[in-house]
Amino acid sequence: MPDAKLAIVQAAQYVCSVLYKNASEVPPVTKVKLVLEAMEGVAFATGGSASKELHISTNYVNGVGGDVKLELDGILIHENTHIWQQSGKGSDGGLIEGVADYVRAGGNWYPAGSRNRKGGAYNDAYTTSAYFLGWVNSKYLDFAYRFNLAMKSFPGPSIFKTLTGVDVDTLWNQYQSEGTFSPKVPEWVASKVPLQLGK
Ligand SMILES: [Zn+2]
Repeated sequence: MPDAKLAIVQAAQYVCSVLYKNASEVPPVTKVKLVLEAMEGVAFATGGSASKELHISTNYVNGVGGDVKLELDGILIHENTHIWQQSGKGSDGGLIEGVADYVRAGGNWYPAGSRNRKGGAYNDAYTTSAYFLGWVNSKYLDFAYRFNLAMKSFPGPSIFKTLTGVDVDTLWNQYQSEGTFSPKVPEWVASKVPLQLGK
């Protein structure tokens, strides 16, 4: 990575531009420390309300095949989303991971046409939830923005009905029949060129 500090700043700016419209909505995080270390797993974000740490596994990065830069940038975007997203008490962990991968997928930080499988459930986390959230967002104006803000005090699955007028099971079934799945690229992703972080 050419400039790690710049990469973190760019990732934070990108994430906040997707999740928020006004500076006053952004959580008061003042410090993000990047830690590269040999560990199990891929990466995680941790810390209190103002000071955060973002850990990435060097074991994992060393084992990545294909486009290593795209994967590393994608991890930075996913973990930065955890730093900046709303995830109030009782939030559905699957949807928290879904939002992080929604931000990543929306900026095209996955190899084109990969990772959005048909089937599963709306809160199965990661790309399963992410591409569903993206599909809903493409149908309902500002859905992702309003969804993230609503996660401040998570109301349960009724969050979907409140924001769209349609209950989550109906939305999920519609998505399963109308959505675009791998190897095709959904329209809301197709035109995006992934930002090269740290350059
Ligand atoms: Zn995550």
